[in-house]
Parts: sequence; C-alpha cells; structure tokens
Amino acid sequence: MEDFQYLRPKTLKDALALLDRFGTGARAMIGGTDLMVRILKGHAAPDGIIDLKQVQDISNTIDADDGMLNIGALVVLSDLVQNRLIRKHVPALVDAASIVGSVQIRNRATLTGNICNGSPAADTVPVLMVHGASVTVAGTGGTRTVPLSGFFLGPGKTVCAPSELVVSVHLPIPEEPFGAAFGRVTRRKGVDLATVNMACSINGEGITTFVFGAAGPAPVIARDESGTLAGKELSDTRRDGILASLISKTSPISDVRAGKEYRRAMLLTISRRVLMQARQRYTRQAG
Ligand SMILES: Cc1cc2nc3c(=O)[nH]c(=O)nc-3n(C[C@H](O)[C@H](O)[C@H](O)COP(=O)(O)OP(=O)(O)OC[C@H]3O[C@@H](n4cnc5c(N)ncnc54)[C@H](O)[C@@H]3O)c2cc1C
Repeated sequence: MEDFQYLRPKTLKDALALLDRFGTGARAMIGGTDLMVRILKGHAAPDGIIDLKQVQDISNTIDADDGMLNIGALVVLSDLVQNRLIRKHVPALVDAASIVGSVQIRNRATLTGNICNGSPAADTVPVLMVHGASVTVAGTGGTRTVPLSGFFLGPGKTVCAPSELVVSVHLPIPEEPFGAAFGRVTRRKGVDLATVNMACSINGEGITTFVFGAAGPAPVIARDESGTLAGKELSDTRRDGILASLISKTSPISDVRAGKEYRRAMLLTISRRVLMQARQRYTRQAG
C-alpha cells in the first residue's frame, strides 16, 4: 500500500478545496467499505483521502420535502433501512439495501458510496433508477442535479468529476399506484456481490421499467410502454417474450462470478419473480 495523506475537513467548502488542490490524486471517502478494499488490493493508490464523515454541511438525515425524499450523503445503509419514510414509500430500496454486505458493512457503508463507486453490480442502484432518483453534485463552482439515468459512464466511472462531491440523493415520492421490487443472484447466500441484480417498477400509466445490474458496463434501463407486462391478461408466453426483448438490451460478460450464458438465463428467471412482486405491490395500492 502506498503512503497517502488522510484529511478530515469540517466543511463542504474545505472538502472541495482539498479535492481541487489534489487534482486527480485524491479520493473522497465516507464508509470506506469500497475505497479501502480497493487500496488494500492495490487497485487504487490515491495521494490523499478526503474523509467526509465530519463535514457538518453534508447531511446524515432523510427528509421529505415538496414531494421528494432527500437522503444526505452521510446516511449509512443501516439507518436507511430503518427509516420510516423509506419503508413507507420505497420498500424495494429497503429490500436492496438490507442485503448489502453484512450488518457491520451496512453500519458504515452509505447509499452515496454505493452510487459513487460506479460498480455495475451495486445493489441499491437499480431500485433508485426505477424510482427516477437523482443526485446533487457539488463543486467549487456550485451545485448541479444529475438524474441517475445519466450518472454512470462505465465500471468505476461516473459523471462526478474528481473535484466534485455527491452531497445528497433525491427520490420523488411515488404517485400511487406504484409498485417496485428488487431481486438478485449471488454465488452464495450472505456476503457476496451480485452475479446479476435488477429492479422493476410499474406506474399508474401501465409502464413497466426494468433496470438490470451486472449485465453491462453500466446499469441497463429497459421499458415496456405497451402496458402488457402491467396488464391483467398476461400469459406466460407473452410475458417471457417481452422480458426476453427487454433483456436483449443487456450485454453480460463472463467473469469470476459467472459466465455470460448463466447471467442471461438468470436475468430471465429473476425478472419473472421481480415482475410478479412489482405487480403485487402495484395491485395492493391500486385496490
Ligand atoms: C465485505 C463486503 C461486502 C459488500 N457487499 C456488497 C453488496 O452485497 N452489494 C453492494 O452493492 N455492495 C457491496 N459492497 C460494497 C460497499 O460496501 C458498498 O458499495 C457501499 O455502499 C459503499 O459505501 P461507502 O460509504 O463505504 O463508500 P466508500 O468506500 O467511502 O466510497 C466508495 C467510492 O465512492 C467515492 N465517493 C464516496 N463518497 C463520495 C461522494 N460524496 N462524492 C463522490 N464520490 C464519493 C469514493 O471515492 C469511492 O470511489 C461490499 C463491500 C464489502 C467490503
């Protein structure tokens, strides 16, 4: 492991100034559950680590305001899954965040870190995307809002520049009826990264949206706008035909976790289950 400077700024302004000073040589850190593993394995060698945990103007709370849920960048996954607003409005995010790592990991790991790491297998990202989430990105020049659908550029790459920080995550409170669900396959039960994962949502206009993870260099969005997947008259054959056409937008690879053929097969199997749960949640709300 290379030497690095460890810095703990107290304000967002100072954190951004430090990132600016290091140029591409510094990395932000919150929980460190991705970053420290990468450093220990020699996959990252920053000159400086900017620890954000003590930055007073980055929030560690979740609030609802003007139809939006706002999740501060310092919110850890354990707090997220216990939060009343998240449990009520985004149960699929509770499902996804609850299986990240272990209790110890979730006590440190943040939703923002899961997003910013840019892993195509990040478990919370598909749910955030089917809910139309966005992030606020801060830089020395001000802030901008970026939809997650345009945030990921490839493995480990996002539109967040090295001198910028994600300071909060935003989710529209779904207008009912709305149903969403999450699913994943792992090599073993318990602590493991997804072989494939996905989320599915159905909205009041009958549009079914899937986001597939670990199935391409970035999460893949695919929609059925015909209303068929959400409709009452859905045969297994028709369902599988549409799911197969949505899955054809993915480009899974073979790697240490699985072969691409297995990934493709699992995408179909899991998408059936996730669709069924999203339909059940939707129907419960639609009455
Ligand atoms: C044993 C183990 C099991 C795991 N299991 C899972 C799993 O099941 N599913 C899963 O999805 N992940 C898993 N992970 C990965 C990891 O725990 C999550 O991705 C976690 O949410 C990362 O959050 P963090 O706060 O620790 O991020 P950090 O490690 O602090 O940061 C992650 C990345 O984001 C950047 N970053 C951090 N904060 C910001 C910011 N505010 N603005 C811009 N960039 C920023 C960092 O520079 C770094 O590149 C696991 C990790 C371990 C070690």
